Amino acid sequence: MSTTMNRRSLLKLLSAAGLGTAFARRTMADEIGAAPKNPAVPEGKLVSAKQAPRYPARLVGGRVIQPERPLTVTNETDVLVVGGGPAGFAAAIAAARTGAKTTLVERYGYFGGQWTGGLVLLVISSHAKENGSLVKVLRGVGDELLERLTKFDGAVVNQNPGKFNPTSDPEATKYMMDEMIREAGVKVFLHCWVADVVMSGPLIRGVVFESKAGRQAILAKVVVDATGDGDVFAAAGAEHELRLHAIGMVHRLGNVDRTDPAKLKEGGIKSLGSIEPLSSVKWVNLRGPSTNCLDIGELTRLEMEHRRSIWKRVQQMRQTPGGEKLFLLQTAPQIGVRISRLLAGTHQLTYAEAREGMKFPDTIAVGGAQNAQHRGWPIPYGVMVPKKLDNLLAAGRCVCVDEALIEDMRLIASCLTTGHAAGTAAALSVQNKCRPRDLAMDKLQKKLLEQGAYLG
Ligand SMILES: Cc1cc2nc3c(=O)[nH]c(=O)nc-3n(C[C@H](O)[C@H](O)[C@H](O)COP(=O)(O)OP(=O)(O)OC[C@H]3O[C@@H](n4cnc5c(N)ncnc54)[C@H](O)[C@@H]3O)c2cc1C
Repeated sequence: MSTTMNRRSLLKLLSAAGLGTAFARRTMADEIGAAPKNPAVPEGKLVSAKQAPRYPARLVGGRVIQPERPLTVTNETDVLVVGGGPAGFAAAIAAARTGAKTTLVERYGYFGGQWTGGLVLLVISSHAKENGSLVKVLRGVGDELLERLTKFDGAVVNQNPGKFNPTSDPEATKYMMDEMIREAGVKVFLHCWVADVVMSGPLIRGVVFESKAGRQAILAKVVVDATGDGDVFAAAGAEHELRLHAIGMVHRLGNVDRTDPAKLKEGGIKSLGSIEPLSSVKWVNLRGPSTNCLDIGELTRLEMEHRRSIWKRVQQMRQTPGGEKLFLLQTAPQIGVRISRLLAGTHQLTYAEAREGMKFPDTIAVGGAQNAQHRGWPIPYGVMVPKKLDNLLAAGRCVCVDEALIEDMRLIASCLTTGHAAGTAAALSVQNKCRPRDLAMDKLQKKLLEQGAYLG
């Protein structure tokens, strides 16, 4: 019989003596701090229908009808950012630093969107070439995040002077995003999916979101739609278009430093993927069919088909001489939706305008060059402002561009910079008691420059 006792058997023993649960709680509390007591949650008590009123949908004449019902307002805020991807993260930090009471709602349990959850680790378009020199166009909140990550060993590669397009480790990025959001004093709701809007005429007064606690609402003065898919502006009835583009699934390979690339090449495997800060790991980009992410059947099919083909491919690599030690470390928790809804904004930025490097009086950021091979392209405020809706700004990959510019605008660097600009603009609109579309551009640009943004 074994003389050592593992944690599980110790807990069993303590539990038999009536001590197990308390012990388990104490060990967790040691690590992360005890949960604050919540008197609204009657732990261990029966909850009656009276205490928890329900409003189930009804089947009426073959149609499912949702009854009218009151919703709890969990929070009232100045600026509400929906979506915690690169754009939403930067927007929330910028709004809070500009002095607005800021709330961020994210459907998953972490920040970073496609960058971290989609395992898209390479921040393309961080730089441009101006007069023959490399210029960093990704500045402000996004760059601060990368600079802070460089201080950790193994968190980011290619962020040094003279280099461009850094690649970051997903867990380090999530951690640093948490830290920066916390420091900025943003109120956060994770695991909350925004499902609808609260309207009052042309104004979005807030959003309705779903969580394990049911449907609740948040009220706001200005809303930033950083969902990537324009869920909020679509629900509010803003004009938009739908674009489809290669829904893929990124995955990561482990033990790549224990492979024999020459032998693998002989066996027909030319590439193992792209570098990461950890030398033993590579991330593998994947394209896929250009279908509609709003079609849940398609999304379900792709999720399963991509995983199946990735699994088969990795097994094949493991059977190829030189690849025996490889393994599939992870498939992305978030399927790789590249584009869907695009806002119809007051300015549709075109590829031709970007290529000419056209300057705008309302420039709020500068897009970079994919391989830092050409000059930057100014991004006007109008790409984020809906034609009609009054107190919403869009940021990130769902802003208003023509088809040819989608490929550049959706890159992480541009999403970080438009997010930063949208957050600052939202906060200034609240402070100046004006609609975001009426915000004085000189005020916005001055504030953005103070906050380290690059406007060309
Ligand atoms: C397969 C693939 C490969 C790519 N490769 C690269 C690359 O190499 N380099 C590069 O720079 N870019 C790349 N991109 C593009 C880039 O990753 C994205 O365009 C960028 O992350 C978009 O940022 P975002 O903040 O606008 O949206 P997202 O990153 O999509 O973030 C949106 C966030 O909103 C949340 N959300 C969505 N709907 C709701 C809702 N209703 N309620 C609450 N929260 C919600 C999501 O969970 C998510 O966190 C790639 C994209 C894909 C899909």
